Amino acid sequence: MKLEDAIRKVPGIGPKREAALRADGVETVGDFLAHTPRVYIDRSKRSALTEQTDQPVTVEAVITKKGTVRHIRRNLSLFHCAIEDDAGNCGRVTVFNQPWLRDRLEEDQWYYFFGKISVSKGTPVLVNPQFTLADAPGDFFDLTPVYGKIGGLGSEGVHKTVNRILHPKKESDTLAVPEILPEWLRKKYDLESADVMLYDLHLPKTAADVERGRRRMKFEEALKINIGIAKNRVAGEPSNVHLYHLASITRFENGLPFALTSGQKKVLSEIEADLTSGRVMNRLVQGDVGSGKTIVAVACAYWMALGGYQCAYMAPTEILAQQHAKNFDAFLSPYGIAVTLITGSMKEKERANALAHIENGEAQVIIGTHALFQKDVHYYNLGMVITDEQHRFGVHQRGVFAEKGEQPHMLVMSATPIPRTLALVLYGDLDISVIDTMPEGRKPVKTYFYTEKAMPKILSFMAKLMAEGQQGLIVCPFIDDSAEMEGVRDTQSVYQSVQQYYKGLYRVGCLHGKMTASDKQAVIDRFNAGAIDLLVATSIVEVGIDVPNLSVMAVMSAERFGLSQLHQLRGRVGRGGQQAYCFLVSNNLSEKTVERMKVIVNHHDGREIAEADFRLRGPGDVLGTRQHGLPSLSALDPAADSGLIAETKDVALALIQSPKAEDMRCVSALSNAFDQGVGKISMN
Ligand code: ADP
Ligand code: MG
Repeated sequence: MKLEDAIRKVPGIGPKREAALRADGVETVGDFLAHTPRVYIDRSKRSALTEQTDQPVTVEAVITKKGTVRHIRRNLSLFHCAIEDDAGNCGRVTVFNQPWLRDRLEEDQWYYFFGKISVSKGTPVLVNPQFTLADAPGDFFDLTPVYGKIGGLGSEGVHKTVNRILHPKKESDTLAVPEILPEWLRKKYDLESADVMLYDLHLPKTAADVERGRRRMKFEEALKINIGIAKNRVAGEPSNVHLYHLASITRFENGLPFALTSGQKKVLSEIEADLTSGRVMNRLVQGDVGSGKTIVAVACAYWMALGGYQCAYMAPTEILAQQHAKNFDAFLSPYGIAVTLITGSMKEKERANALAHIENGEAQVIIGTHALFQKDVHYYNLGMVITDEQHRFGVHQRGVFAEKGEQPHMLVMSATPIPRTLALVLYGDLDISVIDTMPEGRKPVKTYFYTEKAMPKILSFMAKLMAEGQQGLIVCPFIDDSAEMEGVRDTQSVYQSVQQYYKGLYRVGCLHGKMTASDKQAVIDRFNAGAIDLLVATSIVEVGIDVPNLSVMAVMSAERFGLSQLHQLRGRVGRGGQQAYCFLVSNNLSEKTVERMKVIVNHHDGREIAEADFRLRGPGDVLGTRQHGLPSLSALDPAADSGLIAETKDVALALIQSPKAEDMRCVSALSNAFDQGVGKISMN
């Protein structure tokens, strides 16, 4: 068998299973094996009965007396066994709801029991332990892999299938695993071969096996990232955008309704140095929600346009693109700079018109979504690309421009404080600027966590503010009621009940992603103009609603949102400098939800919130890289493994420069794998 064989070839995988696996992105044997265990159960740690443990341990003990099964109620039965370990400590095994196990346990027989030891009234107790006969433990002490669900297969199903692949009945079916890493490299860094790695990760005997397997896998991934980045690298190369002197920023600043903060000024001076250096810029601007990143982008567009170059600004959604186009136009039209919008949903004629202007250079600042980089868009002279809050458009974006013979400066804006190594993985080699100040006079948004029982109270609080002319926002995780998501609030039903509640008093609007672009725009325009008092919306408002009058918001089923996302949402209220309020509403009172909500209630600094989010969910989930298939980081944790990413950078460069055939093969295999991983990111 080969890694690229269809998964269907594995015994036991029928057409139904094949379809289910395909839905989870598994087509080949290799895809299946890339799904490595989440954790391993290790029963090798032994303990005496006297120790109380947080983690399960193995206790060797003899059953001194076996009790009878008692049926407490219909769904509850139990029996006890008195046990004694080899040091003579007495304890008890309690088995709930598995009466049949009583026949498998014998008095005077020694067993290994695996479970947590708790103490009940002075007696050590193991509840529902796993066990095996002490004189025939079999594979009890081997590690047991635990897999996440895939293609409808649970952990045991995955394990069985893996066994069929790695230990086939016929010798001729043995899996052939090609080796990517050159032998000298494996020797130098003491890395095991690719096939041994698969056995060590899937069917390890000891924790040391797993460790070796993971080390090899991480090394390969870190190397892949470095090779991918090096191959896509342009920052620092001579630029063909010739701008040695920029228009005066003072003139621009004087035209603003506010003074730039010191953080904004500092970042602009860093960008100015890049743009006049004669080299290609690749810079990430980080700034908390509300720190004023947009105006930095506008200033860049101003510089570009007055220097004779086009500037493209990519927003994550059409709504935002539309809104930014208005915003940019308001700031830039006084200087005679033409701002053009281009979106996917434009009418044919409008679009043709926009395309013509982009091609003949009349459009100086072009705002849009991914539509900005479709094949039929030809720039007159693109000098700079700015992408906002866009983690899905990373290193690979360069390829798109290179194909068109362009090499613009790159600026990425993000509200999430990304660790340097992760930024490297997401965006390639780039410089980072931080807007570390907030515009003056911002008050922290007062934030509360309530269950839905408090809704009447929240609605009447909102009414009070709306009576004073303020506006409100209610965010729901879903558009409409879906059976799968029972108990989760949706925009439609919340909209209906809230509208009923405020009938004749306040004007309620509704906004969600399934509306047509023009309907969405109409609602946003009315909300901005104050013609809607309260907006019920999905999280499409996460970034971009900028209504100074917006003072209060409620987030329904708040547990469904990421912490950084909640922080983003909260950044929409209180922009006019007034005291603002945010209610997180959830009927989910699990420990985890309460802990997460407390982070938002108690913290107002995006950095602290992102740290908590990384800690609670892991960076991949926070940044959405897991869903978006960024260079698949199955073992590598960009935060924890930053050392390895740094270490393999030199290895990558050495390999790229090496003339040896095996090194060249390694580079091309890894760089293909990298491009494929990144290529999955939506590029239209
Ligand atoms: P974000 O960094 O979240 O994208 P925005 O650029 O949308 O933030 O700015 C948030 C709000 O702050 C906007 O209403 C903007 O006009 C305002 N703003 C930006 N810079 C300043 C400043 N230096 N002083 C006062 N208000 C500012
Ligand atoms: Mg923004």
